[in-house]
Parts: sequence; structure tokens; C-alpha cells
Amino acid sequence: MAKITQNIAAASEHTQGLLSLAKSAQLNAHAPYSGFRVGASVLANDKQSYGGCNVENAAYPLGQCAEAGAISAMVLAGATQIKEVLIVSPNTDFCPPCGGCRQKISEFADRNTLVHLATSEGKIKTLNFADLLPFAFDLDG
Ligand SMILES: [Zn+2]
Repeated sequence: MAKITQNIAAASEHTQGLLSLAKSAQLNAHAPYSGFRVGASVLANDKQSYGGCNVENAAYPLGQCAEAGAISAMVLAGATQIKEVLIVSPNTDFCPPCGGCRQKISEFADRNTLVHLATSEGKIKTLNFADLLPFAFDLDG
């Protein structure tokens, strides 16, 4: 299991770019019910990055996670693979993707896709996607 915890200052410029995009998205989160604002970004196979934020709904189950928004933006642009994902939490704890988002990411990722978890203080933990969802649902079994 590849786990690295580092300060953002030690992260690559590339990862810092993903964090910057996720933080921008986080500012637009629609979280009037929980107040839990999340931002996400994905680096796609077209070498572009796409951001997303959580969008809550008065009918709670209809809310959408930040990762889903970033994936939708990526798909809309025509990209087909996620190379890296970054999720920034609104507090000092890491905010790993929920179970549903792990499966959504799985649709476009592979075992080695990097998943960066960032806190509001700029700490980053990086994992391989297989560490988050080692036995993903796949129609091929
Ligand atoms: Zn989720």
C-alpha cells in the first residue's frame, strides 16, 4: 500500500495545480445543509484537469459529491481516463471518496491511478486507487 503524507509545499507543481483547481471548485460548493464543502479535481488522459464541488439538495439523497461533478466535467469534455484525482476536505481531516464515488472513479481509472487526499491545512496523502477499492465491481468479474 503506497501512502505518503506530506505538506503541500513538498508536493509537485503538478499536484499543487490539482489542489488549486479543487480549492477553487470547493468555493462554489452548494452545501447549505451540512456546511461540509468539498472540492475535487481529476487529471484526465487529455492532460487537462477538471474540477467539481459537492451539490446538496433539500431532498438529501439527491445530493452529489464533488468527485461526481469533476468526472461529469471530464466526460463532457470528451476525456475517457482518470490519471489522478485530488479531493480537498473542508477541515484538517482527510476526506476520502465515499463508496459510491470509489465506484464512479473506478469506471475511468486503473489500479495505479493516484488519489490525493488534501486537508484544509495543505497536508496531502497519496494512495493508489487499488488501495481504496481493491475489489471494484466490474461487468467482466
Ligand atoms: Zn461520494
